[in-house]
Amino acid sequence: MEKLNPNPQRPNEAHPLMVLLIEDAAADTQLLREALAGQPGLPVELLHADRLSTGLQRLNEGGVDVVLLDLVLPDSQGLETLIKIRHHAPRVPVVVLTASDDEAVAVQALQHGAQDYLVKASVQTSRDLLARSIRYAIERHRVERLKDEFVNTVSHELRTPLSTIQEFTGILFDQISGPLTNEQREYLAIIRSNIERLTRMIDNLLDMARIDAGHAVLKKAVTEAAPFVQQTVQSMRPLAKNKGVELEVRVPDELPPLYADADKVTQVLVNLLSNAIKFTQGPGRVTVTVSEGASDLAFSVADTGVGIAEGDVPKLFEKFSRVQHASGDEGTRGTGLGLAISKRLVELHGGLIGVTSRLGQGSTFTFTLPKYHETELFHELFQAGIEKAKQRQGRFSIVVLSVQNFQELKARHGVAETARLLNEVEAVLRGTVRRRDGGDLVLRWRRGEMVVVLAEADQHGAQAMAQRVRRVLEQRSFTIGSETLHLPFLVVTATYPEEGTTELELLRLTERRLQQPAQVKGRILVVDDEPKIRKLLRQALELQDYDVFTAASGPDALEQLRRQPVDLVLLDLMMPVMDGYEVYHLLKENPKTKEIPVIIVTAKGERKDRQLGINGAAYNYIAKPFEIDSLLAKVREVLVQQLVKP
Ligand code: ADP
Repeated sequence: MEKLNPNPQRPNEAHPLMVLLIEDAAADTQLLREALAGQPGLPVELLHADRLSTGLQRLNEGGVDVVLLDLVLPDSQGLETLIKIRHHAPRVPVVVLTASDDEAVAVQALQHGAQDYLVKASVQTSRDLLARSIRYAIERHRVERLKDEFVNTVSHELRTPLSTIQEFTGILFDQISGPLTNEQREYLAIIRSNIERLTRMIDNLLDMARIDAGHAVLKKAVTEAAPFVQQTVQSMRPLAKNKGVELEVRVPDELPPLYADADKVTQVLVNLLSNAIKFTQGPGRVTVTVSEGASDLAFSVADTGVGIAEGDVPKLFEKFSRVQHASGDEGTRGTGLGLAISKRLVELHGGLIGVTSRLGQGSTFTFTLPKYHETELFHELFQAGIEKAKQRQGRFSIVVLSVQNFQELKARHGVAETARLLNEVEAVLRGTVRRRDGGDLVLRWRRGEMVVVLAEADQHGAQAMAQRVRRVLEQRSFTIGSETLHLPFLVVTATYPEEGTTELELLRLTERRLQQPAQVKGRILVVDDEPKIRKLLRQALELQDYDVFTAASGPDALEQLRRQPVDLVLLDLMMPVMDGYEVYHLLKENPKTKEIPVIIVTAKGERKDRQLGINGAAYNYIAKPFEIDSLLAKVREVLVQQLVKP
C-alpha cells in the first residue's frame, strides 16, 4: 500500500506534498517545476519520471500524494496511460496534463478516474492554477474515497440481515413451519424474487467498491475460451427460453488459449447475456460470437432487442447509469452497475469493451481480451510460479525436454514436419502432466525446440516427473514424414530456489544440462548380491563409456566408497547381511558420501520411500525388471544434474 500523507490537503514543512510528475518533454517539465517552486503556500517535493514504467516504479515505492500525468509518453500513449496508473495506484489522485487542443481527451480522462485536468499552456499564464488544481484533485479524491467507503460499509451491513431474511423466507416457502394458502405462497414468491434482486444489487455495489479500491485481483490462468463460453451460454438458456428468445453460439473450432481470470470473464459474459435477454422481447435472438483478431480475442453478444438511443451510448458504461426504454421499466430497475463493472473487469485484463446499437433493432456489445504471445505467456507464468513459491516458501521446478536428435530430424524432414512433431509431443505431455489447480503447466520455449513443464515440485519431485514424462514419451511412436519412430528424449530439471532464483538462471541451467553430450562420463558403483545382475549392468554401463565398479554386499560397497571417488551408486535393496536400506542410511549420514546420488533398484510396484525415511517421490529409483535403455537414460539424467551445477 502506498503511504499517504496523513494530512495531504494541508501540507506543512515537515510533510511537503510529494508530487510525482510523469512527463517526457523537458521544456514542460521545467515549466511545471518552476510553477511549483513559486508557490510559497504549497511546499512540494517534486519527483520526476520521464516514462510510464519508471513512474509506476516510483508509485510502488509509496508516499506519492498526487500524480501529474502527461498522457503521451514514450512507452504508453493516450487514455491507456491513465488506466494503467489508476490500476496500479487507485489510491493516488491524478491530474492529467493536456495540450490546448485536447479538451475531448480531458473529458474522457475525467470519466476514467482522473480527478482533474490542466491545459499545460495555461500554467504559464496563471501560475497558481497548478497549485489550485493539485489541491482540488486531492480533496476531490478524498471525498470520492469517503463515498466509496460509505457505500462499501452500508452494503456489507445490509448483507447480513438480508441473508437472514432470505433463509427464513425459504423456510416459510417450503412450508417447513406449516402449510401456506395459495395466496400466501404467491406473495412469498414475490418477496423472494425481490430479495434476490436486492442481493444482486448489493453484490454489484460490493464488486464495484472492491474494484475502485484496487482490491480486485485477477487469478489468471491459461484457459480455453470455447468451453467457458459454451457453459455460460448454457446456464442462460432457461432465462432465454422463458422469454422466447433464441440463443445461438458461434465459436470457431480452433482458438488460441486465453490467459485470463475465467470467473471474471464469465461474470462479464453473464452480464452482457442477461442484459441482451432482458432487453429483447420474444420472438428474438441473441447471438454470442467469438473471433480471433491479430492481437486479441473478441467476444460479442448481439441481440435483436430494443436498442439504445445514440445519445445514451456514451454513458452506458459509467457507474449508476441506466437508460429509459420506451418499452417498459426494465432499464431503470437495476443499479446501473453491471456494465461499469464489466468495463473495469475487461480493462483489468488489458482489453476493451464497446457497443454498437440501433434503436428498435438491437445492440451488439463486444469486448476483447489480449492474446498472449507464447514467449510473453511463458515469461508471465514463470514469474507467477516463482512468486507463488516465494510466498509459500515452497519450491518451483521446471522440467525441460528436448528431442535428442532434433537438429538431425529437422534437416531430414524440414521445419514444418518437425514443428508438427513437437505439437504432438506437447499434446502428449499435456495429457500426462496433471494440472493441480493450474499448478503444473506445459509450455513451449525457444521457438518450439524445447517443451517445458512448470511444476510446483522440489528437486526430487521434478526428477520423478522427468522420469515419468520421458518414459511416457519413449513408449509412444511418433510419425514424421513417412517414418514412424520412437524418439530419444533428453529431460532435465532445475529447481527454485536451490538451483537458481530467477527465470534466466533456471533456464540457463537447463540449457547447459541439455547441451551435455548424450554420453556423459562418470564413475558408477553397482551394488547387487546377484552376480548376473552385476554383470549385466557392468556391461551395459561400460558400453556407454562409464567407469564401473561393483560390490556384492553392503560392507563391500562401503569399503569401495572409502577407496575411490564415485559419482553415482546403483543400489539393490534386497541383499543378505546388510540390506540396501542400511547402506543407504550409512551413506547419507556420512558427510563424505552424502552428496553422492543413489538410484535405488527395487522390485516392481514396491514403494520404498517410507522405509528409507525419505518423503514422497523424493528419491531416484528404477523398478525391476528394468529395460536397460530406461536405466541408462535415468543414469544419464542423474549424472547430468550432478555434473552441471548452478
Ligand atoms: P444493471 O446492472 O442495472 O443491469 P447495466 O450497467 O448492466 O445495469 O446496464 C445499464 C443500462 O444499459 C441498462 O439499464 C439498460 O438501460 C442499458 N442496456 C444494457 N444492455 C442493453 C441491451 N442489450 N439492450 C438495450 N439496453 C441495454
